[in-house]
Amino acid sequence: MTGQGLASDDARVPDDAAGLDTVLWEQFPESVAFCATDGVCLYVNPALERTYGRQRGEMLGQRLWDLYPEALRPQLQERFLRVAATGEPAEFEWHLAPRERWFVKRLFRSHGRVYVISREITSEKKQEAILRGLYDETRRAQRHAAFLAQASEVLASSLEHDEILQRLTNLAVPPLADGCCVDVPMPDGSVRRVAAAHVRPELVTRSREYHERFPLRLDDATGIGKVLRTGVTEFVPELRPEALFGDGEAARWVRELGVSAFITVPLMSRGRVLGALTLVNSGGGRRYTQADVRLAEDLARRAASSLDNGRLYTEAQEAIRARDSFLSVASHELNTPLTSLTLNVQALRRQLEPGHDPVVPGADSTITKVVAVQRQLARMSSLVRELLDVSRITAGRLRLEREDMDLAALTRELVPRFAEELARAGCALRLEAAEPATGHWDRLRMEQVLQNLLSNAIKYGRGRPIDVRVSSDETRVWLSVTDEGVGIAPEAQHRLFQRFERLASERHYGGLGLGLWIVKQIVDAMDGRILVRSAPGRGSTFTVELPRPARE
Ligand code: ADP
Repeated sequence: MTGQGLASDDARVPDDAAGLDTVLWEQFPESVAFCATDGVCLYVNPALERTYGRQRGEMLGQRLWDLYPEALRPQLQERFLRVAATGEPAEFEWHLAPRERWFVKRLFRSHGRVYVISREITSEKKQEAILRGLYDETRRAQRHAAFLAQASEVLASSLEHDEILQRLTNLAVPPLADGCCVDVPMPDGSVRRVAAAHVRPELVTRSREYHERFPLRLDDATGIGKVLRTGVTEFVPELRPEALFGDGEAARWVRELGVSAFITVPLMSRGRVLGALTLVNSGGGRRYTQADVRLAEDLARRAASSLDNGRLYTEAQEAIRARDSFLSVASHELNTPLTSLTLNVQALRRQLEPGHDPVVPGADSTITKVVAVQRQLARMSSLVRELLDVSRITAGRLRLEREDMDLAALTRELVPRFAEELARAGCALRLEAAEPATGHWDRLRMEQVLQNLLSNAIKYGRGRPIDVRVSSDETRVWLSVTDEGVGIAPEAQHRLFQRFERLASERHYGGLGLGLWIVKQIVDAMDGRILVRSAPGRGSTFTVELPRPARE
């Protein structure tokens, strides 16, 4: 009997190949060939015919390796002959490059023949490649995310413009680039390099020299200038200097700087291009892809937002400086005429007082008005003084004139001056300051503290009684002012001592929100502290605690 497809007329075909064996191989899904030990094909199955797209008749009698593309022949021949000679089976992967197909080939020797079984693994290979791609993509995304997280931290830790940009370039080299620089647009159309880093630091200098020779400009047709002008990323994965610059001097420089690829991304904020970040590759193992472009853009976004924060911070600082200097000038300007006005009104009042000679006609009715004017003036003077104090304290010019004094005596002396104010507000005042409370403090400043606290108690006291207490022990004295007025919400209490902080409605209560801030500055300067205990609708107690310093 003749087995299907068997070269039955070939004398070298062993008997059993014609029978049982080939019946099985015919049905086999894998490609099967068996050959004589010199490689001549004795049998190939239909699966092999299908795989190679050739008729069985063409293949039988040929050497197995001659059926393959030339480049693959030596490899197969060598392995085949080794198996034929040694009887050691072999297994290897086989890549049919022109058709992008992969196989696993198994070779073994039996009954004086060499069997070659081929299983196609193209789809496994493709899946593997997809998986590997996904894995690589995930790894890269993880690396990028970790890098960006670190970058955000580093960038946020400074508010200084140039410092942020230098940190940015240092961050990028070497993880993202061999070289990195940031350039900013200048109003005259030039470009200024504000930060640069390179794995070979000498190239930072070389590149500066290059740009001195060939300056970047905002109207450049390509490169950094164009990105600064248009705000659009530029990505050159493979830079051939001669293609861009011909064979001239510029091309030689670029070759010397070793730039083989670059990505330039804009640093944008609110639609404005603040600068351009350039990542440069020098052709080592790294190749830039779109993923790197996305990473660079992400990094640039973060850097731009840090720059924005820095700019806002600088602007805010400048605004504060401008405000403080305005306060200082304005309060001095207001104070000068106020002082002479006060003196003139005092003189006027003296002339109107009963018993003044000569008697001014109509003095009785005028004096009431003058008293009212004096009150308004006093109020105005105290507001201007607050402003003056603020500018002095802010400029670090709060100087204390310490002297030995008794806070209880000072309080007893000062409280009667508030009689008129208390009467107008309908507040009774209880004073408890019998015991001396001596120390070494600034008398005028202590007066100011007491005045502020008492004025507030009257202002916010709703006409209820006010208690002023001075007490002491060996090491400390306390001055407390308690009212039963509107009180202060707990969540607002920590803001009380801030500058310009006003909690009460502007409509009902006047004031600049400076008094308590000044009080705290004075108390702090005397190494004391101020505490508040208050509840809305139940009144407030402000307590100043001062140490009694050992006498000098
Ligand atoms: P102002 O000149 O506006 O009174 P202050 O610095 O003296 O400024 O006080 C800041 C804010 O604290 C006030 O606007 C007021 O809302 C609140 N405050 C101060 N003292 C009292 C008090 N005794 N009772 C209730 N609220 C007070």
